[in-house]
Order: sequence, then C-alpha cells, then structure tokens
Amino acid sequence: METVTVKRKRGSGNITPSGYIRYKTGVRFQHRRVWERENGSVPDGMMVHHLDGDKMNNVISNLMLVDALTHKRLHGECELRNGEWWKPCTKCKVFKLVDSEFYKKKTKITSWCKDCCKEYDRSKRIAK
Ligand SMILES: [Zn+2]
Ligand SMILES: [Zn+2]
Repeated sequence: METVTVKRKRGSGNITPSGYIRYKTGVRFQHRRVWERENGSVPDGMMVHHLDGDKMNNVISNLMLVDALTHKRLHGECELRNGEWWKPCTKCKVFKLVDSEFYKKKTKITSWCKDCCKEYDRSKRIAK
C-alpha cells in the first residue's frame, strides 16, 4: 500500500496503534485524492462524483467532476427528463419539477415540495 501524506487541520484524523494516520473522512475523500492526482485540485464548490454510485469504486474512469447542486440532485433520486430536473417529494412522494415545485437553497433543494412546506407551515401556525 502506498503512503499518502496529506496536510490536514489538526484534529481531523487520528493515529492508529500501528502508527498509521486514519482520517475520519478518509473513505469519503479517497476518491477526491484520486481525481486530484490526475487533474489537479478540485475547484471550489465542485464535487467529485462516482458515476456508478459505488463509493468504494475509486478508479478515475468512475469519477466525474460536478457542481455541488448537480451533485445533490444526482444523489437525491432526481431524474433528468427533457432537460428538466424532477424529484420526488419526501413527504407526499409525488414526482415534481425541481425548478418550480421546490424551494431552492444555495447548494441544495428542499426535500419537501412547496405544497408540503406550506402545508406544514399552516399546521404549525394552527398548533400555536
Ligand atoms: Zn456523488
Ligand atoms: Zn410534497
């Protein structure tokens, strides 16, 4: 096994009894290191995504650079239909158009559709 020395902020990794540094995030970010070895550092706000969805499959051909929002979508059961993103609301389970039926935040989209969010707000107001 090759030894990779990575500079990290203190406290993000720990030393195993045998002297290896084990990162808490080591498995998650292994793919990032693979990608960076080939392409240079990952630009700010971009993510390295596993094309086949297998997070342990860290071969370069399985890795793709995507922006954070697209990445969220790829992992959020979203579907691209005719150039528009659809995703199921986790509350009412209905597939809805992401751009108009969900609230958008900076790097993510609400998991509930607008209707369910409004419904929830209403019920909260009544409860008070
Ligand atoms: Zn991914
Ligand atoms: Zn809903």
